[in-house]
Amino acid sequence: MKYYIGIDLGGTNLVVGLVNEAASLIDKETVPTKTTSGAAGIIAAMKAVTDRLLDRNNLKLYEIEAIGIGVPGTANRETGMIEFANNLNVSNEPFLPMAKEAFGGKTVYFNNDANAAAWGEYLAGAAAEAKSFVAVTLGTGVGGGIILDGKIYEGVNFAAGELGHMVIMADGLPCNCGRTGCFEAYASATALIQQTKAAMKGDVFSLLWEQCAEDINRVEGKTLFDAVRRGDETAIKVLKQYIKYLAAGIINIINVFQPEIICIGGGISKAGDLLMGPIREIVARESYSRNSDKQTRIITAKLYNDAGIIGAALLGSDIHPV
Ligand SMILES: [Zn+2]
Repeated sequence: MKYYIGIDLGGTNLVVGLVNEAASLIDKETVPTKTTSGAAGIIAAMKAVTDRLLDRNNLKLYEIEAIGIGVPGTANRETGMIEFANNLNVSNEPFLPMAKEAFGGKTVYFNNDANAAAWGEYLAGAAAEAKSFVAVTLGTGVGGGIILDGKIYEGVNFAAGELGHMVIMADGLPCNCGRTGCFEAYASATALIQQTKAAMKGDVFSLLWEQCAEDINRVEGKTLFDAVRRGDETAIKVLKQYIKYLAAGIINIINVFQPEIICIGGGISKAGDLLMGPIREIVARESYSRNSDKQTRIITAKLYNDAGIIGAALLGSDIHPV
């Protein structure tokens, strides 16, 4: 059995996982990310956690095939630089050669974290046998990863796949990328929570208040779905509007890429048919390809938080287990 190390480097947490050649996660460890000491501090922490993980599993570094890192920013594979990662306080540092040195010359790969997560979902079964695949993750923002012909599509500058920053509403809500009306300003989990809170303020009798113990600061994605299940009209209205936003972005993605599979991840996707049913209906009605025999399948993610670790571990691998 071959083993790989996958590192999901987030602005809040650093997760190191041990993954085998069948794309199974065997063990993982999470520590808070130190963002005060630049690339050197982050790499030292990655090495320390990796050593502990290997010890615990009776493995040595030389028994590991490769190490892969998912980075929350632009990871230039040509130069090895992290060009910009605002959540890490790292910009223009030669991250890849530094990591390689820390791991004793071992093969180290890196890529954008959303791309690594898409690669994980792609390899580990969500898209088995598919050649084209798009992953959309609904979280604080909207993450995206595009796999075309079995490869991560990175663009000319390794910055492709920012699906959250396609505009779905000209002159719409401001986005932290500097534009207005971006998909993520309407369809992220953050946006859904904002939409829920705004509706609650207009309806003091809504069951949404009961669902969050009368404390609006405790509203989360689940609050809305629970109230919808109880038949609350205000909640149903919020969900309907949210689904329109989400469907607009999904149909744009389908019209451009016509992938075999789109997978929707993030906590919100756990709402299952409450979300996926209406999305599939709108897509069937409105996508440009609606009359084609072959249609994009829209499914929910399978690996959730582990996708980024598994995908990072296997960044250098072209295996596609079925
Ligand atoms: Zn944006």
